[in-house]
Amino acid sequence: MDKWNMTKVLFDESQNYLASGVSSNLRLAMKPFPIYIREAHGAKLFDVDGNEYIDYIMAYGPQILGHSHPNIVNAICSQVKQAQTYGAQHVGEIELAKRIKKYVPCVDLVSYASTGSEAVQVALRLSRAFTGRQKFVRFEGHYHGWMDNIFTAFGNSNKEGSTNKGSIIPGTKGQNLKALEDTILLPWNNVEALEKTLVEHQDEIAAVITEPIMCNSGCILPLPGYMEKLRELTSKYGIVLIFDEVITGFRLGLGGAQEYTGITPDLVTMGKALAGGLPLSAVGGKKEIMELISRSEVYHMGTMNGNPLCTASAIASIDYLSDEKNNAYTQMNKLVDILVTEINNLSEQYNLPLLINRAGPVFHTMFTDETEITHFSQFQQRDSKAFERLAEIFLEEGLAVRPSGLWYLSTAHTEQDIYASLEIIDKSFQRFKNS
Ligand code: PLP
Repeated sequence: MDKWNMTKVLFDESQNYLASGVSSNLRLAMKPFPIYIREAHGAKLFDVDGNEYIDYIMAYGPQILGHSHPNIVNAICSQVKQAQTYGAQHVGEIELAKRIKKYVPCVDLVSYASTGSEAVQVALRLSRAFTGRQKFVRFEGHYHGWMDNIFTAFGNSNKEGSTNKGSIIPGTKGQNLKALEDTILLPWNNVEALEKTLVEHQDEIAAVITEPIMCNSGCILPLPGYMEKLRELTSKYGIVLIFDEVITGFRLGLGGAQEYTGITPDLVTMGKALAGGLPLSAVGGKKEIMELISRSEVYHMGTMNGNPLCTASAIASIDYLSDEKNNAYTQMNKLVDILVTEINNLSEQYNLPLLINRAGPVFHTMFTDETEITHFSQFQQRDSKAFERLAEIFLEEGLAVRPSGLWYLSTAHTEQDIYASLEIIDKSFQRFKNS
C-alpha cells in the first residue's frame, strides 16, 4: 500500500497507545485504513502521505463552512488570546443564544453542552421532569448518541415495534440493560404503530424523540402527513416532542428541519453544524419546559458547557450562513443538484443499482433494487458491503465518502470540486464494475 505508507505506520503505532487505534469506533469503518490527516482546507483533506481528497465526510457533519474557514479561524484565534475557558458567564453565550432563538422556531431558551449525546440526555431529563412520566419513544434506525438509555443495535427492526420486554437489542456490550427499560422502540414513518403505542402507553410516555429526517439511516424523509400526525398525537397526549437536530440543525437551513418540515417540536437538540467544527451542542425549546433548568428543578451541569472558543466558532459560522450575500444554502443545494443528477446519470450508464435519498445539502447513496426507500426495514436490505467496497475505491481515487453512504456538502465546495468529483466517481464506477 505505497499510497498510504505513513498512514499505515501511524495506524500500526496507534494500536499500542489508543484502544482500537482510533478515537471513535465508527472511524474504523474507513477502509483499507482510517487515514491520518495532516491538514484540511476548504473542501479538501490532505493526509500524512501527501494524498489529497475532496471531502464529503466533513467530519460527520460539523464542517458546514468547510475546513479552516477564515471566519472560524479568526474568531477562534481572537478568542483564544483572551482566554480559553472561564467557568463563568460571558457575552458569547448570550450572543449565540440570540441567534439560535432567532432562527430555530421552537426555541425560547437554550442550554449548552459539548456533544449531541449530552444534549439528548438533557432533553430526555427535561421531558421526564415536565410530564412526571418515565418512558420515551424512539425509532428504529435513528441514532441519538451512545448513552446507555438510548443506544440500540442498528439491526433492530420489528414491524410491530417493541415496547421492550427484553426485545430491544443493546448497541454494545457493557451497556446497562436496565437503562433501556424505559425505551420504546418503534418503526418510523408508520402512523399505526405510533398511534397504537401512544394510546396504550399515554400515561407513561414522557417524550417522543425523532430525527426529523432519518439521516443516520438512508436520509429518509417523513412520509406526507407523518410529522403532522406525530405533532398532533404528542400534543393530544401531553407528550414532549423532541426533534434531534444534531445533524439537521443549521444544515438544512438556518431553521433546520423545523423550517424544512414546517413542524415545531417542544424541544430540539443540536450539535455538529451548529459550531462549525468545535465541540458544542445545545438543547433548546419552549419556555415552560426549559424553565425547569432556570428554576434548578432540573440540573444540567458540565465544566465545558458554553466554552468561549466554541461559542465564538458557532457565532462566526451562523453569521456566515445567515449573511444573505453568501447565499450559503442556495449555493450548497445547487451543487448537490448537479452532483446527485450526475451520479444518477453515471450509475445508469454503468448499470449500477444506486439509489439516492436527499435532504438539502446531505444525501445518502445506497445499492438496492428498490425504486424508493421510505422505511428502515427496506434500508436494511440494501447491499451495504457493495457500497463499502465502492467507498474504498473512492478513497483510493481521492474522494472521501463515508462507507455508510452518507454525503455532506459544505459552503466551501465549488463547482470545480463537483466536476472533479464526478470524474473520480466515473473512474471509480468503472473500477467497481470491473472488480
Ligand atoms: N443525534 C444524532 C441525530 C446524531 O447523528 C448524533 C451523532 O452522530 C448524535 C445525536 C450524537 O452526537 P455526538 O456524536 O456529538 O455525541
